[in-house]
Amino acid sequence: MPVRPAIDALPAYVPGARVPAGAAAFKLTSNENPYPPLPSVLMAISDAAADVNRYPDMFALDLLDAVAEHVGGGVTAENVVVGNGSVAVLQHVLAAVVSEGDEVVMPWRSFEAYPIVVPVVGGVSVQVPVTATGRLDLPAMAAAITPRTRAVLVCSPNNPTGPVVRQAEFDAFMAQVPSDVLVVLDEAYVEFVRDPEVADGPAAYAAHANVVLVRTFSKAYGLAGLRVGYAVARPRLARAIRSASTPFGVNHLAQHAAVASLNAQDELLERVEAVVSERTRMVEALRDQGWELPDAQGNFVWFEFGERTVEYAAEATSAGVLVRPFAGEGIRVSVGEPVANDLLVAVAARWREGLPLG
Ligand SMILES: *Cc1c(COP(=O)(O)O)cnc(C)c1O
Repeated sequence: MPVRPAIDALPAYVPGARVPAGAAAFKLTSNENPYPPLPSVLMAISDAAADVNRYPDMFALDLLDAVAEHVGGGVTAENVVVGNGSVAVLQHVLAAVVSEGDEVVMPWRSFEAYPIVVPVVGGVSVQVPVTATGRLDLPAMAAAITPRTRAVLVCSPNNPTGPVVRQAEFDAFMAQVPSDVLVVLDEAYVEFVRDPEVADGPAAYAAHANVVLVRTFSKAYGLAGLRVGYAVARPRLARAIRSASTPFGVNHLAQHAAVASLNAQDELLERVEAVVSERTRMVEALRDQGWELPDAQGNFVWFEFGERTVEYAAEATSAGVLVRPFAGEGIRVSVGEPVANDLLVAVAARWREGLPLG
């Protein structure tokens, strides 16, 4: 059976290494939340488990209302579309606007799902390198727009490099983008951002009909294992994204867990604050060692190692901390529990001594 050439050519999504059963290692590979679910969220999940013989609410109405209230700024349930993780939501957003052969401009290195979802919907990826400090090169991204471009992906903070897009550069960028090109602002790590100059997603959405926000419950809200994310879009586009979505795409447990998480927001945001202060502690310790790191605004830190990336990652593994290597480029390390972060800082000191290590 012939397979579509675009599918045959897809890069594989490389998941972070998992800790082998019985082994002692910290998993700093996948930007997960190191905290287990709150008791109130666990309770919502176990209560919902009693009803899984039934289909979930197809329209996830309670979740749409809760998300709309959470985002604020006049956003209503009509503007919110949920999906099975924000990667699925992103794919549905693109499916709503991209036709066969249309171009989608993206930063690179950035989130590794981008060059997968674009060809899946029939689009062509146009990758624009990030700057030497790991920032999105928005002027170059605007210049890469052609009459075939249907969408531009803007990842802020950028995974895996870390910096955000700032308001002034975003405004200058939007002035260059034609109004029929969709700008997808991927804010997967928005809760961790402390850069006061960050571009304001809800304000951008309110100001421009061609801006869509994409967010997730996987990172700050600690629900990576349940798969739930959402897009915020103007009504006509939101309807189109809904049409392109898998029916019943967010399962019953995930819907209830996400609503419970928004209800427990204050408690969860205290944990986010703890991760942010661990990030600050880690980055300061690393800078003291002499590292020049990009501005870390997500729950992760980026090291450039070029050709020696895999060697350096192996050194971390043998020290008991799993990290995420991007071969030939660098290593992303998630901010985890304090003892894991201490271990990583100790590994980084050995990295600085240079390899081979014995
Ligand atoms: C982790 C991440 C997501 C979220 O993925 P989910 O499918 O919601 O788990 C989206 N965008 C970026 C940039 C990410 O790093």
